[in-house]
Amino acid sequence: MLNILSARFQQGFRTIKYPDAPPTIPDRLRGLPVIRNGICKNGCEECKNSCPTAAITCHEGIKIDLGRCIFCNSCVEACPTEALRFSNDHRLSVSNRADAIADSKGIKLAAQLEEKMRLLFGRSLNFRQVSAGGCNGCEVDINVLTTVVFDLSRFGIKIVASPRHADGIIITGPVTENMKLALMKTYEAVPSPKLVIAVGACAISGGIFRDHPEQHNGASDILPVDLFIPGCPPHPVTILDGLLRLIGKI
Ligand code: SF4
Repeated sequence: MLNILSARFQQGFRTIKYPDAPPTIPDRLRGLPVIRNGICKNGCEECKNSCPTAAITCHEGIKIDLGRCIFCNSCVEACPTEALRFSNDHRLSVSNRADAIADSKGIKLAAQLEEKMRLLFGRSLNFRQVSAGGCNGCEVDINVLTTVVFDLSRFGIKIVASPRHADGIIITGPVTENMKLALMKTYEAVPSPKLVIAVGACAISGGIFRDHPEQHNGASDILPVDLFIPGCPPHPVTILDGLLRLIGKI
């Protein structure tokens, strides 16, 4: 017991201070894109043609659908004038699907729940996580939020085993045909009112699997989604940021 205590004292406090202090974000994190239409070569469309998920449109300025984007950087490498780059701004969560379309002004970040729902879930929010055909990338970054470094439970947010004990579901993966029924049954088993969070490009739009016949292009076509967290996978701080915005802690 003494060894454990001395190890704890040596390690010190491990939980990040976010949101009371800015998070430590690795420089290599690809976050909110920076779009400079002023130096974009008109009609070039190299970025659009290089995109594996058709996330880019070039009509009236470059727009990137972060709900489709897998942050692969191909567009940045393809652009002859460096009109595109990714900042390491981790704040990417949005409340509406259309708000995930980034342009030169950025995106409209997620808003907090309306009063009634915030009074219900603002201090205690339990989620059932459903991996609807995910590759485990997003699942791992959700799971890490429950560790001592991020300590999700300090905000009253928990991942629970049963949908009966949950206030909502966190969906990852493009919603494969095999998982659709299980997802719908899990959603129906959660007592109302309930929340739905779509984490990652796959759960938002199908991501790299979009339009494949064995999946459903993510959750937003089959369930009412309250929060979209782009990324492939999103950084844990991006997920945490989105959840805290939802309950009005940011
Ligand atoms: S980083 Fe996103 S927008 Fe750019 S090519 Fe990759 S998927 Fe497309």
